[in-house]
Formats: sequence, structure tokens, C-alpha cells
Amino acid sequence: MTRDPNQPPLNQSPLNQPPLNQPLGGNQMPRFAGPATMMRLPAHDSAAGLDVGFIGVPLDTGTSNRPGARFGPRAIRAESCLLRPYNMATRAAPFDSLMVGDLGDVAINTFNLQASIGIIEAAYDEILSHNCKPLTLGGDHTIALPILRALKRKYGPVGMVHVDAHADINDHMFGEKIAHGTPFRRAVEEGLLDGKRVAQIGLRGTGYAADDFDWPREQGFRVVQAEECWYRSLAPLMEEIRGQLGAGPVYLSFDIDGLDPAFAPGTGTPEIGGLSITQALEIIRGCRGLDLVGGDLVEVAPAYDTSGNTALVGANLLYEMLCVLPGVAYR
Ligand code: MN
Ligand code: MN
Repeated sequence: MTRDPNQPPLNQSPLNQPPLNQPLGGNQMPRFAGPATMMRLPAHDSAAGLDVGFIGVPLDTGTSNRPGARFGPRAIRAESCLLRPYNMATRAAPFDSLMVGDLGDVAINTFNLQASIGIIEAAYDEILSHNCKPLTLGGDHTIALPILRALKRKYGPVGMVHVDAHADINDHMFGEKIAHGTPFRRAVEEGLLDGKRVAQIGLRGTGYAADDFDWPREQGFRVVQAEECWYRSLAPLMEEIRGQLGAGPVYLSFDIDGLDPAFAPGTGTPEIGGLSITQALEIIRGCRGLDLVGGDLVEVAPAYDTSGNTALVGANLLYEMLCVLPGVAYR
């Protein structure tokens, strides 16, 4: 059947329940108009009552090369205005069963990276206290560390699907323990991750030594270098990864530089020979069935892509993450 977008969605209101948030439709307000929340969802000050919260972390003081990911959340929200609620490919209807809102941005201290880590942790502790699942608009990849710390406090060590050109397991960068290339080294040291339940996909490029990709393997991670992904569907890989990760909480961390710079040039540390858009969709859709407790899309630096494409891709991939969360309705 065809839905009239001016009518309330089908889903709604089991008896005595308030209606679920819906993205503002393109027939109610032109898509290029109105406040630029994620998917044109209602803004919320608190995660109370939300099943899922989109939240921005506009931090880029952990970047090592090109800065600019502080502008990622705003650009992703702007490009998300084109997203419609129903997933034509997977039949997911996330707004038929989940209460989803936009929690705005974490008020990081842009002059103090260390202080920002604590601010982010506190923000995610608060979100998680409401049993709300965070879907994060980055921000550079440093932000995964405070998010994983908060997740550990709620769930214990989590599994992880990590898409990236880089392993992000440096011991330090320029002597600093906290930076966008170190979060998963710290996460292992702090017991935030269940190493046997971690998969890294898309790793490539030049390094300092073989250890850059061997250290994560020594921690039990499955490392899938980009070359293993070339010319093929990743659906079979994701079947294997679902088997590896099994039951138990899983976090999905997606660095946009996992994609080839042909598709996502607006990022700080681009590497050639990366994943395609369709492979990214296969990875995220292949997470359906996992017990996902949150996800992020990081390292969108809009200034390096005047087309807006990188932020558009980021917005779409965050929507796809929403569509594979536990509890999503399929129609
Ligand atoms: Mn990264
Ligand atoms: Mn990266």
C-alpha cells in the first residue's frame, strides 16, 4: 500500500502510548528548510524516553593530519534532510517501533582534549542510564575511547565491528596517549573490548611496520585488510563475522576513511584502494542480528569535499545503522 506522508504513520500508538517520533516529511516542510536535526527528527534535551539518540561530538583536536571533523555533525545533519523513513532495500521501518530523537551535540572543550574526554564520558553515561542507544555523528576517532568507557560501565567489555583504513592502535602519537590513532590500543589496555569479538575491516595504506596490523591480531581481533575486500561482495564475510561475534553486546565504529577517497574525500587521513559504498552497506546491513548497543560515524571533515558527498554518505550510513538495531520493525 502507499502511505500518505501527511497522515500519521501506521505504526503508532499501541494503546495509551504516546506516538513515536517521525522524521518531518518532505510534504510538510521542504527538505531544504527548517531546523537541521538528524533526519529532521524532533530535538530532545534528554535521552529519557528515547530508544535511540543521534548525538554529535564535534571534536577534532585528536586529528594528526587535516583537521575539520568538528564540522562533521553539522554537515551530516544538513545532508540527512533527504533521508526518508522507510528502507526500500531491507524493509526496515525503524520509526514504526523505536522512539528516535536528536540529542544535539556534546559540549566538548575545544581547547582541552583531555577535558573533552571526561565531558564525553559523562554525556554517554547519562544517555546510557536511560537505556538509550547512541548513534554518534563525529568528530574524529578519538571519541570512540570515552564512548567505549561508558559502554563498559553499562554492559561490560563489548565486541566491535570497526571499519577503517587504519587500525587506530598506536601506542602514542607525538608522545600523546589520547589521539585519533590510539583509541583501540587504550580500549584493549583498559579491558573495554572483548578481543575475540572484534573485527576490523578495510585496513590498508602505508605503515611504520607490520606490527601496525599484527598487534590487533595478537589481541584476538579479526583483521580484514582492504585487499581481501577488493572485487567482492562482503555479505559472506559478514556471515562469518556474525558467527565470530555471536551473542553479547557489540559496538559499530565506522571511520568514513574506510571508504575509498573516490567516494568520501572529505576526511583527514585518506588512503587509496578503499571500500565501496555498496560494501559499506553490506557491512552495516550484515550487522543485523547482532546485539548492537550503539554506533558511530566518524572523521567526516566536510571542507575537503565541496560536493557534500562525504557528509551525505555519512548520513546514509548512520540511517543504515539505525535500521539494524535490535527491535526495528520490518514491513
Ligand atoms: Mn579511525
Ligand atoms: Mn582512519
